[in-house]
Amino acid sequence: MFDNLSDRLGNVFDRLRGRGALSEQDVRDAMREVRVALLEADVALPVVRRFIDAVTEKAIGTEVLKSVTPGQQVVKIVNDELVEMLGGEEVEGLTLEAKPPVVIMMVGLQGSGKTTTTAKLGKLLKERHGKKALMASLDVNRPAAQEQLAVLGEQVSVATLPIVAGQQPVDIARRAMESAKLQSADVLLLDTAGRLHVDEALMAEMKAVAGVSTPTEVLLVVDSLTGQDAVNVARSFTEEVPLTGVVLTRMDGDARGGAALSMRHVTGKPIKFAGTGEKLDAIEAFDPKRVAGRILGMGDVVSLVEKAAATIKEEEAEAMAKRMAKGQFDLNDLRTQLRQMQNMGGLGMLAGMLPGMKKAKAALSQSGMDDKVLVHMDAIIGSMTPKERANPALMNAKRKKRVAAGSGLQVQDVNKLLKMHQEMSRAMKQIKKMGGLKGLGALLG
Ligand code: GDP
Repeated sequence: MFDNLSDRLGNVFDRLRGRGALSEQDVRDAMREVRVALLEADVALPVVRRFIDAVTEKAIGTEVLKSVTPGQQVVKIVNDELVEMLGGEEVEGLTLEAKPPVVIMMVGLQGSGKTTTTAKLGKLLKERHGKKALMASLDVNRPAAQEQLAVLGEQVSVATLPIVAGQQPVDIARRAMESAKLQSADVLLLDTAGRLHVDEALMAEMKAVAGVSTPTEVLLVVDSLTGQDAVNVARSFTEEVPLTGVVLTRMDGDARGGAALSMRHVTGKPIKFAGTGEKLDAIEAFDPKRVAGRILGMGDVVSLVEKAAATIKEEEAEAMAKRMAKGQFDLNDLRTQLRQMQNMGGLGMLAGMLPGMKKAKAALSQSGMDDKVLVHMDAIIGSMTPKERANPALMNAKRKKRVAAGSGLQVQDVNKLLKMHQEMSRAMKQIKKMGGLKGLGALLG
């Protein structure tokens, strides 16, 4: 998702950042390109207009254009507006504080992923929130819909309401309420019937079910692959039932992003969750800041940090951070980093998470390099003596030859590694000069 948009915006901003000074015209030209990119990503026209106006107005402010890094500032403004467009700084979660059973009603068209999402939420509520949930399917239209939820319920070990053949939705909802109370369930998830299109009968049924169950949350499930249709469906539902939020499914697919980017503005409802796959744990809280970061290719630093925390030993990381802060970064440190990269799933995993990695990855694969490179570099460092690792300046022609032979590689591979190390040390000294990691934070905006 967002790949195309991300590439297009990346090109525009690379050009902006590449220049020292920016004129008002430069900003306007860049915004024209951003506008086209958003429209091609299927973002609703009024949303695009509002976005471009807001960014242009802020960006041509004199402080921005006169600043030392105008390009960077413009990118930051775009980032902030994107976050706004996606729903703001807050991650909007579920309201679970009401008197139990808290009723969450799931609505949406057939095939949007409603039943799957119901089971995903049941699992999430149990595992992350420690809530006891009961799930009930009110879908009497689609054959075997109720059985489908029962099967999913077993898979995630969340109770489902026993099926009574022939019972109608409103009666099932009543029975589910009673059962949830009897079982002291914290949350009742009602999976309502879908239709192929929004129609009056569907809306009447939704209202009747809401009438007997007084839901705290009414979540609309829509398929992000349907783009603007998803937004139109959301608008129709909003007019009829009091939606409290939207779940966008198939965010793992290659949707252009229009649904995610237009939803908030067009419907006024927050996107609360993103479905990211068929598996029952493939659901994420929708975090506008993270999504904006991904779109701008600034890297999903939050995900990266979470992943790093899970794989990197804390003491190791701390020791390295200290050495880096002092401007000492030798080949032992580089080796530790290479291993961490391998542990974290190699270059492929890091691509798209770290700023600039997408491009680096593309460049690497073009030049025929891949994760093997990490292993090779590790082997080269492994063939050096401890003294050489601590002091790479020792590496003369003779030593390079020995190390190349020892690692089964060429002298030019050894040179590449040394050059990379040099560049990294230089970058780290720069960061140190800018005031350590705080400086890096400022650089990243
Ligand atoms: P319903 O008719 O709205 O209840 O839709 P279902 O829950 O039966 O889902 C329809 C299909 O979409 C199933 O094959 C699901 O596995 C699939 N699906 C649901 N959510 C996602 C998602 O976030 N990503 C992907 N890739 N598939 C999904």
